[in-house]
Amino acid sequence: MSVVADYDLAIVGASFAGLTAARSAALRGLKVVVIEAKKDPGARIHTTGIVVREAAETVDIPHTVTRRVHGIRLYAPSTKHMDLFAPGYAFLTTDTAALMRWLADEAIRAGVKILCDTRFTTGRYEGGLVHLEQPAITARYLLGCDGAKSQVADAFGLAKNTKFLIGVEAEYAGLDSFDPRFLHCFLDSSIAPGYIAWAAPGPKVTQIGLATKGDAKPALQRFIDQTEARFKYSKAEIVERRSGVIPCGGLVRPYATDGVMLMGDSAGLVSPLTAGGIKLSFEFGRRSAHAIADHLLNAGPPPEQIIDSDLPRFRIKSALRSALSYGPPNWMYNLLIGTPPLRALAQRLYFHRKGGGGSFEEFAGKLAD
Ligand SMILES: Cc1cc2nc3c(=O)[nH]c(=O)nc-3n(C[C@H](O)[C@H](O)[C@H](O)COP(=O)(O)OP(=O)(O)OC[C@H]3O[C@@H](n4cnc5c(N)ncnc54)[C@H](O)[C@@H]3O)c2cc1C
Repeated sequence: MSVVADYDLAIVGASFAGLTAARSAALRGLKVVVIEAKKDPGARIHTTGIVVREAAETVDIPHTVTRRVHGIRLYAPSTKHMDLFAPGYAFLTTDTAALMRWLADEAIRAGVKILCDTRFTTGRYEGGLVHLEQPAITARYLLGCDGAKSQVADAFGLAKNTKFLIGVEAEYAGLDSFDPRFLHCFLDSSIAPGYIAWAAPGPKVTQIGLATKGDAKPALQRFIDQTEARFKYSKAEIVERRSGVIPCGGLVRPYATDGVMLMGDSAGLVSPLTAGGIKLSFEFGRRSAHAIADHLLNAGPPPEQIIDSDLPRFRIKSALRSALSYGPPNWMYNLLIGTPPLRALAQRLYFHRKGGGGSFEEFAGKLAD
C-alpha cells in the first residue's frame, strides 16, 4: 500500500536553486511546495547577482532584468589596470530582485505552490515520508535549498559548510564613473584579503562590494574612501546595503540521507575560487529535480546516486583558494598587472579560455549599442 503525502516534493528556500528545482520538478509531474522564510522571494537580496554566460545558457532569463557586461577591467592596488575580454562571452549583471520574482512566477506557472513568510524549523523521516513540523505537512522528498547556513542540514544530521568568505556591498544610484562595458575587479590584499573588491554596473544601479576570507573584516568604506578621487561616489546616492556569507570549502558530505538532499549553497556548491554559486544552483537545481522525479515516479535510484559523479569536486580551485587566502602582497599585484602571465591566468579564470586577440576598443566597435 503506498503512503499518501501532502506533496511529492517540499523545497526549503525560494532562491536560485530552490525555484529552478521547483519549476523543473513540477514540469515533470510532481506536486511541489516551496517554503520561504522571507515575505517575498525578491526581498532582502544578499548577492551581487552576476550571472555567467554558462548559467544564462541553463535558464533563459528575460533581457529586461539584465545588462550585458562584455569585459573585465582588472586593477592593481596602484589602480593601473588591464582589460580582459573574449569575443562571444558576456556576463549578465541583474536586477536580482526582479530576476527572483520572475523565477518565482515561472515556478508558479508550472504549478508550484510557494509558501512565503514561513520558516522551516525541523522535521523527521518516518514511514517513507518526510514530516515537517512548521508548516505541518508531509512530503515524499525534501530538498534543502536554504543557503549557506542550512537549517535542513541541521534538522536531518547532514554536513554543513564550515569555510566562508564574507561579502559586503553598497548599491549606488546615479554613479556613472565606471565604464559600464566592464565588470571592474580590484586586487588589493590589504582591503580584500583572500578575494577582490568590485564595481558591477547593473541594469538600474551600480553595486560596489568586496569579499574577504572569513577571519578578516570587510573594509568597504576604506575601499570607497581610497578610490573616491577617481570614481566620485560622493556625487551618487547609496540606495541599499547588503552583506552575506559565501561558502568556499566545496561540496559538503554527507549532503543526502533517506528522503532528503541539499542543493545550492547548502550543499557547498559554490566555486571556492570565484565565489560564484548561481550557475551551479541553476544547473544542479534543475538536475536534482530531474533525479528526484525519476526516483519518485519511475522507481529510479536515490537522486544523489544519479548526480553524485557530476557534482564538482573543486580540487584545483580549492588549492588556489588556499593559496589566495595567504594574500599575495600588493607590490606583487602592482608588478604583475598588464604582464602576459597574469593576463593568461585571469583570462582562464574569468573566461575559461585565452580570450580575444586585438584591443577591446576594436572588439567593442563591432558590438550593437
Ligand atoms: C555578497 C555576495 C555576492 C555574491 N555574488 C555572486 C555573483 O555575483 N554571482 C554568483 O554566481 N554568485 C554570487 N554569490 C553567491 C550566490 O549568491 C549564491 O551561491 C546563491 O545565492 C546560492 O543560491 P541558493 O538558492 O543555494 O541559496 P540562497 O540564494 O542563499 O537562498 C536561500 C533561500 O532560503 C531561504 N531560507 C533560509 N533558511 C530558511 C528556512 N529555515 N526556512 C525557509 N526559508 C529559508 C532564504 O530566505 C533564501 O531565500 C554571492 C554571494 C554573496 C554573499
